[in-house]
Amino acid sequence: MSEAMLSIKGLQVAYGGIQAVKGIDIDIHEKELVTLIGANGAGKTTTMKAITGLKTWTGGDITYMGQSIRGVPSYELLKRGLAMVPEGRGIFARMTILENMRMGAYLRNDESAIRSDIERMFGFFPRLKERQSQLAGTLSGGEQQMLAMARALISRPKLLLLDEPSMGLSPIMVEKIFEVVREISSEGLTVLLVEQNARLALQAANRGYVMDSGLISMSGDAKEMLHDPKVRAAYLGE
Ligand code: ATP
Repeated sequence: MSEAMLSIKGLQVAYGGIQAVKGIDIDIHEKELVTLIGANGAGKTTTMKAITGLKTWTGGDITYMGQSIRGVPSYELLKRGLAMVPEGRGIFARMTILENMRMGAYLRNDESAIRSDIERMFGFFPRLKERQSQLAGTLSGGEQQMLAMARALISRPKLLLLDEPSMGLSPIMVEKIFEVVREISSEGLTVLLVEQNARLALQAANRGYVMDSGLISMSGDAKEMLHDPKVRAAYLGE
């Protein structure tokens, strides 16, 4: 296979004396949808934070498009096409939906293409279109998740990182979010999806990694993992 778009090698991350990530390897190739699943506190969010420049690491390295991203700040990574939809969404509560979406385009100046991207997002999420002048802070959790995804996609990322997009959402909202994840992935966007909903994540993904107490305990083809007895017992509630 060609060189990975994102390559994590021997990554270690600590909070004070506590090792949250204990030396993990993850590769994501162009156009792949890779999922990282695992229980609460396994270290998934910490891994995401390391990738996006929000947490320094103590060992190993992360390369993106062939270059180490150690010490590269988040805004620079975004410029290079690495966009994250954080857990808890991070939308701007006092701005409208439309203003939030436009924030996703702040590095762009191709106004007509920005407008057509916004329309495309409204196509994915008609509810956002209906409410485009509404303050984002008044949206439901599911609507905020849609908005956070729309905002990230409007930056036209090369690699989209999604941290627990299904968290706290109703089954209908979860289905809608995953429908869009599958769609953007089928169009060729490279995605890293961190999820506690292992079934949905593995159904959508090409490959999966299981994280357990700061280590990768298993990895492989997502569909094969769905049928793996260990995964089924530990993560699919069977
Ligand atoms: P969840 O699904 O619950 O978000 P996770 O797999 O994303 O879990 P992390 O949030 O990465 O897990 O946490 C990994 C470990 O690091 C946990 O033991 C957690 O308590 C610890 N941890 C996370 N953030 C901090 C922090 N700011 N200070 C100290 N310890 C932290």
